[in-house]
Amino acid sequence: MFGKIKLSADFIVIGSGPGGATVARELSKKGKDVLILERGHDYREKFYYGTYLGAMRYSQHASLLFTEEGLNIIAPLMVGGATSMYTACAAPPPQWLKDTYGVDIETEVAQTIDELEIKPLPLELLGTASTRIAMAGRALGYDWFAQPKFMNPERSRQQAKSFDCRATCMLGCRCGAKWNAAEWVDEARGHGARLITGARVKKILIDGRQATGVQGRIMGRPFHATAPTVILAAGGIGSPRVLQDSGLNEAGVGMTMDITTMVYGLSRKKGTGKEPPMTWSWENQQAGYMLSTLTDPWLLYPLAAVRKGLGPTLRWLRWNKLLGIMIKLKDDISGGIYPDGKIRKPMTAGDDQRLHDAWQVCRQTLVEAGAKKSTIFMRPFIGTHPSGSVRIGDMLNTDLQTRIDGLYVCDASVFPEALDRPTVLTIIGLGKRLAKMLISDS
Ligand SMILES: Cc1cc2nc3c(=O)[nH]c(=O)nc-3n(C[C@H](O)[C@H](O)[C@H](O)COP(=O)(O)OP(=O)(O)OC[C@H]3O[C@@H](n4cnc5c(N)ncnc54)[C@H](O)[C@@H]3O)c2cc1C
Repeated sequence: MFGKIKLSADFIVIGSGPGGATVARELSKKGKDVLILERGHDYREKFYYGTYLGAMRYSQHASLLFTEEGLNIIAPLMVGGATSMYTACAAPPPQWLKDTYGVDIETEVAQTIDELEIKPLPLELLGTASTRIAMAGRALGYDWFAQPKFMNPERSRQQAKSFDCRATCMLGCRCGAKWNAAEWVDEARGHGARLITGARVKKILIDGRQATGVQGRIMGRPFHATAPTVILAAGGIGSPRVLQDSGLNEAGVGMTMDITTMVYGLSRKKGTGKEPPMTWSWENQQAGYMLSTLTDPWLLYPLAAVRKGLGPTLRWLRWNKLLGIMIKLKDDISGGIYPDGKIRKPMTAGDDQRLHDAWQVCRQTLVEAGAKKSTIFMRPFIGTHPSGSVRIGDMLNTDLQTRIDGLYVCDASVFPEALDRPTVLTIIGLGKRLAKMLISDS
């Protein structure tokens, strides 16, 4: 009864996370004809946005997506991508991106820091327990620093809401303090870009060596859209899948994840769960890991701890006294996104070594901060940064172009190595740089 939907634009952007949103915003600001195709929907006005129910609704597989090795991946599918569920930490790109790979985004990153007023939360909002952990770390000789944030209490006030950042920030921001890439999608639309939600791109249309458009389904109905330039920004899992379905089978061979876990210990005083997440961090760049203050949201804690046995699970009863330190590892490239739908991410010997080092430092720090040694344990691994699956240097040149003319990739999948730090500022920098280049070419 209904035929195929036909669309066209000068630029098609697939995905609306920080990669897609940035490119779409910058192009549309210059009057370009942009079509954004987003698999998910906009949940910001829904009553369940920022709740446990919401997190299940908008995360792939209701937050129960696992690698073959049992690592739990959180991959939100929605307008704004994973920035709805991120903890809003900001870190500049690693120096090696410029020195080793020739990708210089310093100007774009400096501009973004200014534009979004990225800075640590004011001292009084850094959290008493979080600050206790950071000071314990410093006393042991580790130089913990107040983590810069895409989060500003002033934004809550402007929306007549009160600042209420805590572990539940990872379900979606209800107090308005956190910047979300969906805001740049709104801006792009304000400049004339078209957004279609519920639009899942299946493959890129290619004629010889030139991209000519995309095809897929919009709310289950087949569509095809033509454009001479396609920017794939479907994230570390989505982008390699689309490329594989388009015949670029080298995509998804190997990936990075910044493999993450939390180390918990019980103290007599107030814990970190009700404080803003990740307000303090310490990086050991030489060994390859980063630590930050963080506790799982209350209802998610037992789901993680149950895999560690009765003792850790029962500590749920004293969740508000738990001190938590998150470990993020600079994992080696391994496993990948497989054409059969599976995701593999085995730990290498190097990853095990980094984890061992980080675990020792966390234990020491938690004890120094007042946690009882016998209560300290590490939760199962989690993956919040699926990345490095369409790498610069392997599949992309430094301009983020594939071997197909007119086909670019701009998201976490392009990282040539594990970033081992918050990704979003780097992705925005890459997006701004790509948009500049596309504008000058056109
Ligand atoms: C719980 C959590 C906490 C985090 N905390 C931080 C933090 O504090 N700081 C930080 O910098 N980073 C953080 N991150 C990581 C960061 O949010 C992601 O790395 C980043 O959002 C990735 O951006 P992206 O553009 O690559 O893709 P995504 O944000 O994943 O966006 C990709 C978009 O593409 C869409 N899509 C996928 N497939 C298709 C398709 N076939 N067709 C159309 N659309 C498609 C998806 O629905 C999605 O909206 C966190 C992530 C999580 C999950």
